[in-house]
Amino acid sequence: MNTKVHIVGGGIAGLKCASILHSKGFDYLVSERQSCAGGHVANWSMLFPDGRESSLLIGPIYESVDSSKILKGEEVLSIKKNSNGKYDSVLSSGKIITSDSVIVASGFSLFDATKKEEYGYGLFEGVITNADLESWFKGAGDIAIDSPSKIGFLHCVGSRDAKAGNIQCSKVCCITAVKQAIRIKERFPKAQVYSFYMDLRMFGRGYEDLYLEAQSKWGIRFIRGRISEVSQNRDKQLVIKAEDTLSSRPVKLTLDLLVLMSGMAPDSSNNNLFLDTGIGLGKDGFLLPNDIMDKPGTTTLEGIFAAGAVNGPRTIPDLIGECHAACNNVEIFLKKTHPDG
Ligand code: SF4
Repeated sequence: MNTKVHIVGGGIAGLKCASILHSKGFDYLVSERQSCAGGHVANWSMLFPDGRESSLLIGPIYESVDSSKILKGEEVLSIKKNSNGKYDSVLSSGKIITSDSVIVASGFSLFDATKKEEYGYGLFEGVITNADLESWFKGAGDIAIDSPSKIGFLHCVGSRDAKAGNIQCSKVCCITAVKQAIRIKERFPKAQVYSFYMDLRMFGRGYEDLYLEAQSKWGIRFIRGRISEVSQNRDKQLVIKAEDTLSSRPVKLTLDLLVLMSGMAPDSSNNNLFLDTGIGLGKDGFLLPNDIMDKPGTTTLEGIFAAGAVNGPRTIPDLIGECHAACNNVEIFLKKTHPDG
């Protein structure tokens, strides 16, 4: 199969790049390893900053792409430059896509919360992740939440954590915790909700407003401190121990539900592909741009570009901007290397 641009990944970044290229009249093919497109965002419920349902964001993007150009269930095994200066991408089915350029938009992995054994995910029924809670908000998934009276949120699970192998801040989980805490209060108005944090990173437009609203309107209590241990009592309630580092007092609480804010980690299943292709990876496991200040949407290899959370934690508006940058780079590259089209 021949195309101008091969887009690796059919999550929101890959679809957005396809949509932009489609509107500019470029030929493209998207390969997505899952059986459906949309990635993590498709499993999310209301999105920040404007609270829209994820389907209202992804739906129009998906509809603006030629669906016959999305190859689903196809993992990219290798990308090699051939003797004609084009890129041959070998797919898991054995098919080969030959393209003039490539955009890598293969996304991230959600940190596996079972690695933090002290929090009891997978051991205690009342311990869930942010992703589980989003599925529940969407009416999907298999967890049941039955009128909890005390609910805790724990920030920075698998992020800013050298032991977990991920020292990066995931950028989006502070505001996601605030959003989820408010949504759970809407469902269970009588519940007491606690949020345990190391630092609150409310950097985006509207974030601080929502954080203030969480306290003033919804009565959510923010406690600066990490939970050190989770256990279960005889009534199957969760018993958590933490330290309030602002008052230097130990905290012991009984909860019905604990939500772990799992962070964004690099998708290590792509490491062999990236190493084999020779694309530069940072120490944090995310792709490196050609110039971190001046060249968003690039990689260290000419002709191969990148967009989205494969480059590190991104908010959705950040990611959309980077998709435009990557497609702009592709256009400039193709004009230079293939001036006759
Ligand atoms: S955004 Fe907040 S919860 Fe997420 S890693 Fe950064 S500080 Fe922790």
